[in-house]
Amino acid sequence: MKIAIVGFALSGFSFLKSIIDNKKNDNLEIDIYEKRSEYPAGLPYEDDSYDKLLNVDSDEMIYPKENKDDFKDWMEDNNKKIDPIEKMAPRIYFASFLKDKAKDYIDLPFVNIINEEVTDISVSINDYKESYELRTKDKKSTYDFIFLATGASFYQDPYGLRGEDSYIESPYPLKDKLKDIDDDSSIAVIGTSAASTDVFRYLMKNKNLTKPINFFTGENEYKIVDIPYEGSIYDKYSLDDAWINRALSDNEFINLDELIDRIEKDFSDNGFDLRYAYNTYKDHSLDLSRKAITENDQALAFCEDYFMQFTVYVADIINNLRPQDRQIFLNKYYKYLSFLGGKTPYKSMKLILKAYDERNIDIITNSKSIEKTSNGSFLLKGDRSSYADVLINCSGIETNLNKVADKLPLYNNLLSKEMIMADKDGECIAVTWPRLNPLSKKYGCLRNISITGMMVTTTDIDNNDARCIQKSAERIGKILVDDYNL
Ligand SMILES: Cc1cc2nc3c(=O)[nH]c(=O)nc-3n(C[C@H](O)[C@H](O)[C@H](O)COP(=O)(O)OP(=O)(O)OC[C@H]3O[C@@H](n4cnc5c(N)ncnc54)[C@H](O)[C@@H]3O)c2cc1C
Repeated sequence: MKIAIVGFALSGFSFLKSIIDNKKNDNLEIDIYEKRSEYPAGLPYEDDSYDKLLNVDSDEMIYPKENKDDFKDWMEDNNKKIDPIEKMAPRIYFASFLKDKAKDYIDLPFVNIINEEVTDISVSINDYKESYELRTKDKKSTYDFIFLATGASFYQDPYGLRGEDSYIESPYPLKDKLKDIDDDSSIAVIGTSAASTDVFRYLMKNKNLTKPINFFTGENEYKIVDIPYEGSIYDKYSLDDAWINRALSDNEFINLDELIDRIEKDFSDNGFDLRYAYNTYKDHSLDLSRKAITENDQALAFCEDYFMQFTVYVADIINNLRPQDRQIFLNKYYKYLSFLGGKTPYKSMKLILKAYDERNIDIITNSKSIEKTSNGSFLLKGDRSSYADVLINCSGIETNLNKVADKLPLYNNLLSKEMIMADKDGECIAVTWPRLNPLSKKYGCLRNISITGMMVTTTDIDNNDARCIQKSAERIGKILVDDYNL
């Protein structure tokens, strides 16, 4: 079988590893297409400043949980230290870890790396057999199976400022994009996500800014702090693969009532209430983070760790509910956990609060507009107005399929050939679960192409997480080995 992997970062590598670890035969040829010169790394872990830190603990990066300490142990063995103040690992170490693990796989004689961007894929179907033609600028090859793992697209441009002077469209690599900013500039950052925290940290450490950094964001100030939980969530979380398999053993779907009872019971058995954290902290203000830190709120800490575990299983759970139950679960229950997505690391929040108290940062909420003025500065309007000389965009990765297709030739071609179509409200790509095969009116379902990463997050729910990316890629590798007796 001839396989192409498009995009060689965490997902592409996890798929390659799964195929090779599970295969029983040698009837394989694997071509890997990667447009970056650095691999496997991807945008989150690419070469950059040591100030770019993971937004979760080192033992929350690896799937399955039996191997959760692999990255942590690798850091110890390789004398890599966590950041002494924020106690998180630099993200570039995760790329070093991946490169180390990938060496033996990419050296195999039937694995080829092609350091080029894929710009087009076509399908032809004869006797129910799909065959794919893949193109780069200079090359054209045919494959039986495509694993499309192109990951993060590009940063959204919510105020239509792309191309304006002093507008930094994407903050990464920090060491290139932010190094020339003048200490006397007034700086505004769009968003208060993990990327904004990277920017804040980099600027505070590497510059002597004379004016406060202005964060410009929506309703909420800064995602709530991640309070360290003093127990072990692994003893207390019960909605794992074994529970899912049991729930499905005699039934076509997971029963919604049983699911909710199980979550409620996990909380009540440990003396906590599922709704408490949401009702107390959903407004994500700095004052609420301050309160959680002062009180060392273990009820919030439990809910945060619970959500960290739930994230790994949520796609399996939600995709195995009846559609009507799925909607009820998403609308009425999931919010009690999912509002904790993107929470701010504990020590980072302490630095942010200190900077806020010392007036080194300011936050404008209820963002409405940003305009470029005639003197070249930016006018930001929200609950207050402010001017900035430099604007750094950390607003989030684009997942609207039309917008992605407008900018990326591969997706433009796939969309115009109707090999893919958008999921609900134009967002992401509609795929099956768990094979992640694209759906379309023209082809129905293309079974020999699987799409992972952010562009399928409406199906692979909450997969903006290294463990979810590994889980889906590994599973598809195993399915392929079984289906084709590889
Ligand atoms: C900025 C950022 C920070 C994050 N930090 C964390 C974190 O700290 N912890 C965590 O658990 N999760 C984090 N995540 C979630 C993250 O999505 C996953 O951890 C994971 O890295 C995604 O892997 P991927 O392989 O799907 O995509 P990516 O890492 O985006 O990799 C996609 C690869 O495909 C290549 N590619 C794209 N298009 C083409 C093409 N047409 N031809 C050839 N090659 C192509 C790219 O060059 C890239 O190497 C972060 C995400 C982002 C965006």
